[in-house]
Amino acid sequence: MAEDCTHDCSSCGENCPSRTAESLKKKPHELSSVKKVIAVVSGKGGVGKSMTSALLSIASQNKGYITALMDADVTGPSIPRMLGIHKRAMGSDDAILPVVSESGIQVMSMNVLLEKEDDPVVWRGALISGTVLQFWTDVIWNEVDYMFVDMPPGTGDVPLTVFQSMPVDGIIIVTTPQDLVGMIVQKAVNMAEMMNIPILGIVENMSYITCPDCGRKISVFGESCVDALALEHGIPVVAKVPIDSKLTQFADSGRLEEWENNYLSEFFDKIDENLKKKK
Ligand code: ADP
Repeated sequence: MAEDCTHDCSSCGENCPSRTAESLKKKPHELSSVKKVIAVVSGKGGVGKSMTSALLSIASQNKGYITALMDADVTGPSIPRMLGIHKRAMGSDDAILPVVSESGIQVMSMNVLLEKEDDPVVWRGALISGTVLQFWTDVIWNEVDYMFVDMPPGTGDVPLTVFQSMPVDGIIIVTTPQDLVGMIVQKAVNMAEMMNIPILGIVENMSYITCPDCGRKISVFGESCVDALALEHGIPVVAKVPIDSKLTQFADSGRLEEWENNYLSEFFDKIDENLKKKK
């Protein structure tokens, strides 16, 4: 142990016996309470990870859980826009309060901290992961049952920081059929194993379209292989979300919470059940 040990392993490079995965975890703000944290990841951008994070948060909130949504995609934040949030976050010297959406979801995102929401964030990786860490340590999350973390795509600095510093209960993978699903899933499975965090489920977004005349499901990108992959990797819950222009319309106009047909309600229910069983 270093002589000047601060007992904060997250900011120390020493390799001493007290350095464990647990010791790297950061404490949330003293006034925060968060019961479950679920990270939503994808291999690349544009596959609907933010849409999935938002739909899961809405499903959780509608079920009566106190829900939070942390937008950890600092350079490409889209959560506030989907939920029609244009307010700035309020804060004091040592804490920031999340902005609350129309239906009551507690949201923190770079966009609610910027003076103008379309200002670009041109920062280096360390600063970005430091900001995400502050979303955990400096924000007062009020009695939250479920927190969803919308991660940036890939396996860079931010996912590593989140998995090391926050008590993540599980990961949800988002892919699309034309994404190199097998490889993406394998990478996510490997990362989850390295971090010792379970994969709770997989969402195949833009899985099919529904014919407006006959209601038949058409797999535009070929037959889905997500069920087989889930089976192969022991991922317990699968959801398939269609391409639905209404979803884009509601999300782009900031009214996603008003959209009644939440494709991920059942998926969330199953994940909720599985997590309760694990307790
Ligand atoms: P990511 O977070 O992976 O970059 P987003 O969730 O921001 O992706 O989605 C990218 C775009 O695709 C957004 O405009 C969103 O409204 C749209 N979109 C996502 N999922 C669907 C879907 N199932 N049907 C129609 N549009 C979708």
